[in-house]
Amino acid sequence: MPTATDALVVVDKVNKHFGELHVLQDIDLSVARGEVIVVIGPSGSGKSTLCRAINRLETIDSGSITIDGQPLPQEGKALAGLRADVGMVFQSFNLFAHKTILENVTLGPIKVKKVAKKEADAQAMALLERVGVANQAQKYPAQLSGGQQQRVAIARSLAMKPKVMLFDEPTSALDPEMINEVLDVMTSLAHEGMTMIVVTHEMGFARKAANRVVFMADGRIHEESDPETFFTSPTSERAKDFLSKIL
Ligand code: ADP
Ligand code: MG
Repeated sequence: MPTATDALVVVDKVNKHFGELHVLQDIDLSVARGEVIVVIGPSGSGKSTLCRAINRLETIDSGSITIDGQPLPQEGKALAGLRADVGMVFQSFNLFAHKTILENVTLGPIKVKKVAKKEADAQAMALLERVGVANQAQKYPAQLSGGQQQRVAIARSLAMKPKVMLFDEPTSALDPEMINEVLDVMTSLAHEGMTMIVVTHEMGFARKAANRVVFMADGRIHEESDPETFFTSPTSERAKDFLSKIL
């Protein structure tokens, strides 16, 4: 279990409402450096809202979130710094349609981190190589398959040298035959020591890569355990019910 000193992401008693809806209820979650957390739970349980709160795309009503000991900034330059530290990959790939694959990956380092173009290009090519799409560098997003685009989105996040990567259902918009090529990249990242919070229902990935599964429903964390324990002997009624529907 993480100790106070190696906790990279600390979510402490976080509450969030959307009007009457209490979407995050006293959420406590501590993610250690190098740890891989899989967040699982029914639709509408607050998983995306939690990810968005950690990246400060959503505000919270109470509680606190710290990244590497620093509270989330409210705005301005510090917020851009946070977005670099906390990479996020969404269900939809969100690549810039009118920029090449290479430009999609170099844009952040050049604009935000003031990396020289030549260096940014070299780093981007290395990342595209790592996710297996270096030969697509001069193409535009629409010319790539969904699986390739999602791997580019991962490379684009990695280009900012994040401390932690958030993945919100990164494979749920993909055709089945492309899911594994994205999960394989994520599994390698996990094994290389990247700190990751991954919302997914892909149990194969959870078993291979996760240190811990966190089960959310109705805005609460109901259960957390190692993947094997969670999938074979969940204890909460909500988790048992959920697993009986997806297994
Ligand atoms: P999950 O990712 O687990 O499916 P979400 O975090 O997306 O759940 O949503 C949790 C609940 O909050 C849902 O009922 C959703 O309709 C609601 N919700 C999400 N975003 C907003 C928003 N911006 N305004 C109002 N309600 C929202
Ligand atoms: Mg969601």
